[in-house]
Amino acid sequence: MKAIAILTSGGDAPGMNAGIRATVRTALASGLSVYGVKRGYQGLIEDSISPMCSKDVSNILQRGGTILHSARSEEFRTEEGRIKAAANLNKRRIDGLVVFGGDGSFRGANDLQREFGIRVIGVPSTIDNDIWGSDFTIGFDTAVNTALEAIDKVRDTAAAHDRLFIVEVMGRHAGFIALEVGIGAGAEEILIPETVTDIPAICRKVKSRLETGKTSSILVVAEGDEEGNAYEIAQKIEAHSGLKSRVTVLGHVQRGGSPTASDRMLATKLGYAAVQALLDDAAPCMVGVEDGLISRHPLADAWTRKKELDKLLVKLSSGLE
Ligand code: ADP
Repeated sequence: MKAIAILTSGGDAPGMNAGIRATVRTALASGLSVYGVKRGYQGLIEDSISPMCSKDVSNILQRGGTILHSARSEEFRTEEGRIKAAANLNKRRIDGLVVFGGDGSFRGANDLQREFGIRVIGVPSTIDNDIWGSDFTIGFDTAVNTALEAIDKVRDTAAAHDRLFIVEVMGRHAGFIALEVGIGAGAEEILIPETVTDIPAICRKVKSRLETGKTSSILVVAEGDEEGNAYEIAQKIEAHSGLKSRVTVLGHVQRGGSPTASDRMLATKLGYAAVQALLDDAAPCMVGVEDGLISRHPLADAWTRKKELDKLLVKLSSGLE
């Protein structure tokens, strides 16, 4: 292995820059040439590939987003698209590719290795934390902390006005963010796709809290809850009980901001681990951190296996209100 490329793909996540920095510097220290690809797989197809040196990753560790930019690419899903992408790597004699992204990005990477022999490593990066094979994904901790800070502020106004607030956090398919944010913020109810949301029971509990003098409540809902998003849940609660609520959708603020210390450590470890995996000829694989140790798993595990929520946290999500 002589030259590698790095790209960031799919949804951006805070900490990607710290991961890029660690990958570039570990690779350079190992005697490899390094290239950066702009705009994910679309940039690979359009030949937006440039050499990177150590200075290119100076002063980025603490920045959110990704200096390489991210994108989604329909063209890369086609064989013609991937032929162009592989040709652009081959003409520079790039034989390794590090992909920061989610399971969709890993599928694309796997295709590149299977069809064209380019050795690929996936680095799990998504605020949703829903990738099997790593206890945490890059960006999750920052997103949780951002949402927590926002909900603490909502709590102040909820208490001042004796209101019921419904706060929606990200998580289209999984409740990892909602669960940790809800517990950390002391939410009265946490609504996630993995557990049954019982609107009449929620109404009963909010009312009985009102009767005992607890005049404000916060419900944290994952955007993908089976009963709907925060607005739909607010309507259902009002239709069922007459209780009025205020809705706050945190949305994309959760993706932004400077990464937390935990995300910087995770991204730095995984960037290093990705280069080691390439040097060990372990591709195709995904690197992760499990029980504090770096792990490697086949890329396909990312989309064939389902990460479960922490059972203790699920238990704690009810019963502390
Ligand atoms: P994420 O990586 O965050 O899961 P997406 O699912 O949007 O994000 O995937 C990012 C990109 O990866 C897509 O725009 C596409 O270019 C590529 N990709 C996703 N799924 C596949 C697939 N099955 N085959 C080839 N490429 C894919």
